[in-house]
Amino acid sequence: MGLLDASFSKHNVVVTSVDNVLNWARLSSLWPMGFGLACCAIEMMATNASNYDLERFGIFPRSSPRQSDLMIVAGTVTMKMAERVVRLYEQMPEPRYVLSMGSCSNCGGPYWEHGYHVLKGVDRVIPVDVYVPGCPPRPESLIGGLMKIQELIRMEQIGLSRTDALKKLAAKSVDPQQAIERERRAVRA
Ligand code: SF4
Repeated sequence: MGLLDASFSKHNVVVTSVDNVLNWARLSSLWPMGFGLACCAIEMMATNASNYDLERFGIFPRSSPRQSDLMIVAGTVTMKMAERVVRLYEQMPEPRYVLSMGSCSNCGGPYWEHGYHVLKGVDRVIPVDVYVPGCPPRPESLIGGLMKIQELIRMEQIGLSRTDALKKLAAKSVDPQQAIERERRAVRA
């Protein structure tokens, strides 16, 4: 904070856009819901513990979906649990984000072929923003996924819905940053 204190100690003015301020606040205070489904959740808990210290990113687990803006789906989503996952997702306020952690949640994992009781990807029931591969992914991978969510938030803009931006990105399959910039120009025009 020393440098910042020196820069802002006098009467200064900061000029920026409302988008930048809102995005900065959102990405610096991501609150994931504290819930896990299977072994991947152990890695998620380890990531929250002192060795990796997610609070330095402003990431701080909450015990209620109503106070959370990020759902980390960590583990095997069984058919029975899928209904509960959807209910929790629906209880989260907008803007909300979903990170799918590990092969089970991404595509069914080791239960892909014979797991009659397992959903073959949580994206069949809720929209997923970022997928983290692995069985289980290491804490570093989860942190990488969380930083991707932060990147996504940084690109958001009032008037451009995240769903629309993501759909266009998927359809065009080009550099995401370029596509978002193009959309921003179109909205401004
Ligand atoms: S992806 Fe692997 S580690 Fe994660 S919940 Fe499935 S079986 Fe467990």
